[in-house]
Amino acid sequence: MGVDAYSTPAPDPAHAPARDERPDLRALPLELLAGLVKSLGERPFRARQLYRWLQRKGAASLDEMTDLPRPLLHELARRSRLTTLERAGEQRSLDGTIKWAWRTGDGKLIESVYLPEPDRKTLCVSTQVGCAVGCTFCLTATMGLARNLTAGEIVDQVQRANRRLVELGEGAGPRPLTNLVFMGMGEPLANYRNLKLALDLLLSGEGPNFSHRHVTVSTSGLVPLMGRLGAETPVKLAVSLNATTDAQRDALMPINRRYPIAQLLEACRAFPSRTGRRITFEYVLLGGVNDTLEDARRLASLVTGIPAKLNLIPYNENPGLGFAAPAPEAVQAFLDALVARNLTAVVRKSRGRDISAACGQLAREGGPGDPRRKGATALTGPAEPR
Ligand code: SF4
Repeated sequence: MGVDAYSTPAPDPAHAPARDERPDLRALPLELLAGLVKSLGERPFRARQLYRWLQRKGAASLDEMTDLPRPLLHELARRSRLTTLERAGEQRSLDGTIKWAWRTGDGKLIESVYLPEPDRKTLCVSTQVGCAVGCTFCLTATMGLARNLTAGEIVDQVQRANRRLVELGEGAGPRPLTNLVFMGMGEPLANYRNLKLALDLLLSGEGPNFSHRHVTVSTSGLVPLMGRLGAETPVKLAVSLNATTDAQRDALMPINRRYPIAQLLEACRAFPSRTGRRITFEYVLLGGVNDTLEDARRLASLVTGIPAKLNLIPYNENPGLGFAAPAPEAVQAFLDALVARNLTAVVRKSRGRDISAACGQLAREGGPGDPRRKGATALTGPAEPR
């Protein structure tokens, strides 16, 4: 299976979705916005003003931009569109985690998860509607892949979340969020072009200005695009490893048959390491499957020589997927075995388990592929007006 097998076969340009060929203001870098504003006969500073409304303040519509001339706004409304996701649901966990469902312009539902901690406020962002990679322990995989998200839809998850957090008193505006992880629905590198554009916008100084040290892209192992991400962006890389032999990983993550562990680790070794860019290896501990001391020993030797941090994630059981959570003693023994080999390893606290917002649990509840379809807790709704 080639790289493209994991993404939509049809072209999915950031600026021109099938039903509306007009450029999406939400996905235009400042230079392109400047060109558009200039073509409308306006002075250059208007582009910067517009960009700040779009990317720093997260304006939901042109109507909010009260300091821009009406004729310019009128022309922009005629010649362009503005992606703004509709909040279709919101669930709050007892631990403070919030899961949002967003409705796209064509009626698809996607999710983002907010993870507050004392020293950071992180958003877990989706990059595709569903996923084609097919990891057997993952709920998103049961949906299959509907389509890639556009750059505007990726960026707007962050904009809507920031706005909502201010409304909820979770932080001061315009940007309560401090960290982004691209670990939501989808394989981010299978939607590389839109991901790259979204990262450029989110890191831009005139926009939300996220620090590259606080942005992490996670991959299941799309080897050909890992080097490109490293060369073209300054963000951090996480690799969802989850197994220590090819036989084991083939069974859990079909992408391994195309890019086996040796190739994946070679790509990790070659990943351009800038200051502080350690690779995070995510390892979901599945009870009785990959949680033995033998697995821990193999894992330690696999990552030898790679500046690495190991995140151990005790599996959250999903009805219908057939995997069990690991025993707490097995988790502790696994961690101890790694630490004894001088590796940096942590057990990641499971967040938002009561609202199905934890790792591997993102899927549209009640959707066609959702094993929890019967008796699932509905998301709150309908959406409140933005
Ligand atoms: S774990 Fe990630 S890559 Fe694998 S199926 Fe789920 S969303 Fe896709």
